[in-house]
Amino acid sequence: MTKLRIETILCRAGTMDNYSYLLIDENTGTSAVVDPSEVAPIANKCKELDIIPDYILNTHHHFDHTDGNLDLKEIYGCKIVGAADDAYRIPGIDIHVKDGETFSLGASNAQIIRADGHTTGHILWYFSDTKALFTGDVLFNLCIGGLFEGTVEQMFTSLNKIKQLPDDVFFYPGHEYTIHGVGFAKYLQPDSPELQKYLSFAQERLSKGLPVSPTKLSEEKAVNPYLKAQSVQELEKLFNI
Ligand code: ZN
Ligand code: FE
Repeated sequence: MTKLRIETILCRAGTMDNYSYLLIDENTGTSAVVDPSEVAPIANKCKELDIIPDYILNTHHHFDHTDGNLDLKEIYGCKIVGAADDAYRIPGIDIHVKDGETFSLGASNAQIIRADGHTTGHILWYFSDTKALFTGDVLFNLCIGGLFEGTVEQMFTSLNKIKQLPDDVFFYPGHEYTIHGVGFAKYLQPDSPELQKYLSFAQERLSKGLPVSPTKLSEEKAVNPYLKAQSVQELEKLFNI
């Protein structure tokens, strides 16, 4: 049985509210940091848990996901893994991965899923055994990432790839942006009991200073307006309301 321990680390607190994640494959002790946007909170967590990360896994090139790459590589000697098509702008990249490939973190395997839209070359990291999906800036709680480089069509395709994953997969976003999605979700679904339930859960988590994530894809599919869009046209409309 593979077992992946996942520690959520808040970075750039109060400004961009990024989430970085420390992953530890408990069978082998192999470990990785997902999207290190700064060094201190990650180094503190590694020290607390006595972990020397073996890898950095990037979802995309934006600075608020890669700014810690070079310093952490220097401190820990870890290898940096990112999308081949994004390699030219991911600082310090060592290992290139492509859509459909598998990356092994010790005994835990991640499937690489290409998800353009927010940027070109963005990837998702899907650990199917653990049922954990790291979505970077594609999917957030109740909202999605802005279209910096891609098109609505590409984002629709990417969201569909997420929707096709099993309902009991938990997703781990690149930011705590729940609050940004609340008003729009309520406006579109004023009477949704699923949304009510989701919001009271989210409120409770946030009031304790905890991340809303991870939530199950089934829960997200029921309330996230962008995941609910059934066509490119429907998705496009959401950008224009
Ligand atoms: Zn980004
Ligand atoms: Fe970001």
